[in-house]
Amino acid sequence: MTSERMEFKTEVKQLLDLMIHSLYSHKEVFLRELISNASDAIDRARYESLTNSDILEEGSGWKIKLAVDRDAGTLTVSDNGIGMTREEIVESLGTIARSGTKEFLEALKGQEVKDNPELIGQFGVGFYSSFMVADRITVISRRAGLKGTEGVKWESAGDGTFTVDEVQKGSRGTDVILHLREDEKAYLSEWEIRSVVKKYSDFIEHPVVMDVEKEVESELQKGEKVKVREEETLNSMKAIWLKDRSEVASGEYDDFYKHISHDFHPPAKVIHYRAEGTSEFAALMFVPSVAPGNMLYRDFKYGPMLYVKRIRIMDHCEDLIPQYLRFVHGIVDSSDLPLNVSREILQNNRQVEIIKNSLTKKILDTFEEMKGSNYDDYVKVYGQFGRVLKEGVHFDFSRRETIADLLLFASTRSGEGKLRTLKEYVDDMKEGQEEIYYIVGSSLSDAANSPYLEAFRQKEFEVIYMTDDIDDFIFNGFEYKGKKMHSITRGDISLDKDKTVQIEETKKRYAKLLDLIKETLSEEVKDVRLSGRLTDTACCLVADEGDLDPAMERLLKAMGQDLPPMKRILELNPSHPLFAAMNAIFEKAEAGEELKEYIRLLYDQALVLEGSKPKDPAAFSKAIAKLMVENAEKK
Ligand code: ADP
Repeated sequence: MTSERMEFKTEVKQLLDLMIHSLYSHKEVFLRELISNASDAIDRARYESLTNSDILEEGSGWKIKLAVDRDAGTLTVSDNGIGMTREEIVESLGTIARSGTKEFLEALKGQEVKDNPELIGQFGVGFYSSFMVADRITVISRRAGLKGTEGVKWESAGDGTFTVDEVQKGSRGTDVILHLREDEKAYLSEWEIRSVVKKYSDFIEHPVVMDVEKEVESELQKGEKVKVREEETLNSMKAIWLKDRSEVASGEYDDFYKHISHDFHPPAKVIHYRAEGTSEFAALMFVPSVAPGNMLYRDFKYGPMLYVKRIRIMDHCEDLIPQYLRFVHGIVDSSDLPLNVSREILQNNRQVEIIKNSLTKKILDTFEEMKGSNYDDYVKVYGQFGRVLKEGVHFDFSRRETIADLLLFASTRSGEGKLRTLKEYVDDMKEGQEEIYYIVGSSLSDAANSPYLEAFRQKEFEVIYMTDDIDDFIFNGFEYKGKKMHSITRGDISLDKDKTVQIEETKKRYAKLLDLIKETLSEEVKDVRLSGRLTDTACCLVADEGDLDPAMERLLKAMGQDLPPMKRILELNPSHPLFAAMNAIFEKAEAGEELKEYIRLLYDQALVLEGSKPKDPAAFSKAIAKLMVENAEKK
């Protein structure tokens, strides 16, 4: 096959456009991205060579070489890694948009890349960032392990198309040649390259080399200096995770974190330790200070990098960390796992299980410790990751209370002050209170202003505000220290024994009226009953014990979920004068039109209270206006 011109995929085009035209202030990260790709390519070659010796035909002096050609105005990044076939290069660098590209473009809507430099690496759009400094890029590659010297040449000016061509290449791996823009010629300077490598790629475990000019003592003429070109390794290649904590200088952790996470903010917490005994491994984990924008996406890649005896095996090993800690970045280097571990082996491996348990415990212990001794920092971390951490209460049965103890809540008691923990809630429970009460809302003010809180406020029973989408799934029925958690808008709630007796009596007295209400609203509600949860309000709607919480239902619908219509229970306040008034009409005229209209109004009011709209807002408004007129005429 010879030369071919192809179009970039639409998303890639958009991305290129953005890269080329944005006034991005950290352009130098392009080099980090290229070096990181080269290092990944070497890791892959090294890993494949464990089972396929053809890869090593040309030796294993793994390295990444940077070369400058001043006359041509080019900077080349070469590696002797895995390389790419023609198909692979077409897919990887043009026709398949990486899964992150779309999300990256989404995340950028309305924002400037220059304000969010971390987005570039985070979404895996690395290679294309080179178009910020180059107006043409040539990539020459040869796949390792294939016989012959045939390779592939890819070229593009970032203008919507690229070409692929056949080319001869003497060695395996990839050369990325950047034809630098006129105003980006600074990247031809040795000093500039050196400092960018030091800044972003010092920890790359393969040598990043460059031929540099040096003055050395002349061999011919003593005392004379002559200039020679010599290859020099620019990075230190230190495996920071294998060092002792005491040997790591401050700032090194931050730099390393930025390198592996592509996050520009320093981490909120570093966890570095070494395990010995039943399992030998080193772990270096980081809790970020800012949540990545794609953390809640389904295809969010998580899990620490897995190394076995210093060889990188996998970028994201999901089996090493529970999903509810997916925001933690890091590296695990195991001495016990075989080098040729596959995903399948990992899934049922005892060593992996041991490491996962150890990491989980360590991270949760760290949070507990932070909560105690560094509360303000903990609140910040919790603000970013609490939503994800909570999932553990549901999914990690054996640690559910440990995780629950880490959670912080706003409540009717927290006010503007400190957030509350479940332990504080239980310790402060009032005499006669049996359950932990919560209310679901779309925001704190939405929850705090709910009329459903009336009776609880009056009795000084604390109610927790739940505002995360998953809260109700997680806490409905959850038991903390033997106390059940109960949404105050769901199921039967009676706060007061005396009231229960009163309700039973009222029920008998008004049985017929209740039946009529039930019948009139049979299409709309599941049941009508008298309630002990209200004080000033006449009625409210609640969900049945097993049903979805109303606020939750609204939230899910707003998120686009298709839910079957769910009927609620209408609860009436037996001590509200409206109830007696309706009964008086009932005794006079039984099921007359007036009473039916009152019943519908009652239901509409309850809808408004729970934050929904009356089914027929025009009729609702008309009925109220009519009542107002009647009332005014009586005066
Ligand atoms: P990412 O590195 O996040 O996957 P990039 O856009 O930087 O995204 O690269 C896209 C893909 O191109 C890589 O996943 C890899 O398959 C391939 N690639 C890039 N550079 C190289 C290289 N030096 N050697 C081999 N493959 C490479």
